Amino acid sequence: MRALAVAITGLELPAVEKISEENAEDPFQILIATILSARTQDATTHAASSRLFRRARTPRSMAKLKVKEIERLIYPVSFYRNKAEYVKACCEMLVSRFGGNVPATLEELVMLPGVGRKTANLVLILGFKSVRNICVDTHVHRISNRLGWVQTKLPDETEQALYRNTAQRWWPYINLYLVTWGQNVCRPLYPRCGDCAVAPLCKRIGVEKR
Ligand code: SF4
Repeated sequence: MRALAVAITGLELPAVEKISEENAEDPFQILIATILSARTQDATTHAASSRLFRRARTPRSMAKLKVKEIERLIYPVSFYRNKAEYVKACCEMLVSRFGGNVPATLEELVMLPGVGRKTANLVLILGFKSVRNICVDTHVHRISNRLGWVQTKLPDETEQALYRNTAQRWWPYINLYLVTWGQNVCRPLYPRCGDCAVAPLCKRIGVEKR
């Protein structure tokens, strides 16, 4: 992790991290941007989130938008029709059940439409400064296995294995470091092992094409 901390310096931040920095770590904007980010390129997520937040910046104002308008604002994120439904339903629940605020526990966050453990953990880390959560997405799952930190089949298993196998001081940074590394160096196909700052520390488990 120390080597990765140095290696990612100067690389482009993941979209949700950028939105978090630009919007004073607002849990609501982090929540919505993370919902939009699933299976979507970072630049598309960032642009779509910015358009949506220019139109509505709070759960109350966003809950009043029609699904069709949300669709239009977030297009072309992938699954934009489903995500527009989730955004609307999520905002309605934030208003009706949580007084217009984003809840600060994992148990409450995963009750929201469109929110799973990945999104909930990222909101807790970026929006509430939690040091007790790890956010595992596809990059974290893949690279943790390649490095040999975990031997798991599913992201949820990876999350639990990382709690056991890594020092807690690194938990809030695992997502940032591994997502940045996964987008730039340890890509899903053809990872750039020859240019990798952590190659001497990596077991390269399951890596065939480099
Ligand atoms: S050495 Fe290769 S597989 Fe290991 S972290 Fe670096 S790029 Fe990924």
